[in-house]
Amino acid sequence: MEPSIEHRPRRQEQEPASSEITEVAPNILRSQLPVFLPGLGHVNCYFLEDDRGVAIVDPGLPGPQSWRALVARLKAAGYKPRNVHTVIVTHSHPDHFGGAGRLRDRYGAEVVTHRSFHTWFDPADDEALDPDDAEGPVSDSAPRPAPWGRSMPWKAGQFQPPLKRRMRYRVLRAVASGFMRTPSPTRRVDDAEVITLAGREWVSLHTPGHTDDHLCLFDPTEGVVLSGDHVLPTITPHISGLVAGADPLTAFFTSLDKVGALEGVRLALPAHGHPFADLAGRALEIREHHEERLETLRTAAGELGRASVEDLSKRLFKPRSWGQMAESETYAHLEHLRATGQAESRYEGDELHYQLIR
Ligand SMILES: [Zn+2]
Ligand SMILES: [Zn+2]
Repeated sequence: MEPSIEHRPRRQEQEPASSEITEVAPNILRSQLPVFLPGLGHVNCYFLEDDRGVAIVDPGLPGPQSWRALVARLKAAGYKPRNVHTVIVTHSHPDHFGGAGRLRDRYGAEVVTHRSFHTWFDPADDEALDPDDAEGPVSDSAPRPAPWGRSMPWKAGQFQPPLKRRMRYRVLRAVASGFMRTPSPTRRVDDAEVITLAGREWVSLHTPGHTDDHLCLFDPTEGVVLSGDHVLPTITPHISGLVAGADPLTAFFTSLDKVGALEGVRLALPAHGHPFADLAGRALEIREHHEERLETLRTAAGELGRASVEDLSKRLFKPRSWGQMAESETYAHLEHLRATGQAESRYEGDELHYQLIR
């Protein structure tokens, strides 16, 4: 990681991956795999043990480095990759599905995701991008170009700035080597299905917001929730304005309320950071954080009148965060105001502008 100039305290989620394996609940082990993304030092890969072997949750980034770490962690817990019978992927971000394709192809593991799981490099999407196909049947999923070539709805005709070249090569190398094969799920679950792992029954919870395909698992008997990136202990997950579906923030609020209302939760197991107890309290805190952002936006929009997403994002974020991520999150909040009848939008030239409705 690049050294930080401002010495902000390190968040739990930024801690580098420890090689330690800890038992966090009966038959549930926490391992950590290295992650090389801004603001994240590790991803938790949970091992759910049973008499068939082990199911693992979120097998890290694509690529040999994460794979080697995963094999080492499994070994430390007494397993080999062939003992992994099931892989749960909480959502379609690369730090969560990395090893899934390999475990399925080479070791026959079942890959479980939410019904709507998708990635931008799904073969179906490549077909949808084929210009010859433009007149073809309408696909139920919009084409998802690579993240370095996607247009931003709030700046018509402009594209996201390219990923850092190094990152781009890393992604392309991983695709070429087969490490980044789409982890085609073998089992897609809906909301409220029962899955038996670690000798107990889990209920699937569809929790859209951070991504539209986010899945949590709840064990009502012991009160354990695998919360993925939906609820993290000290950071708020990015809510992107670039996801399919209008108003991801409303979806996120609904999903926060949904896990907040679960009864008997004693332990939340997040994908980044330490396990924690008060899931409902943390879900509420994250919701309040976004409510505050909406309030800040309403105030800024009141002062600025009609204003661009970029200008409004600068009222919401500190200068060190300005840029495409901040604009994307601001856009998601503005779309929420629009969808709930509090603001209206229109293009002025290439830029989308918002104004409060009084
Ligand atoms: Zn994520
Ligand atoms: Zn993540």
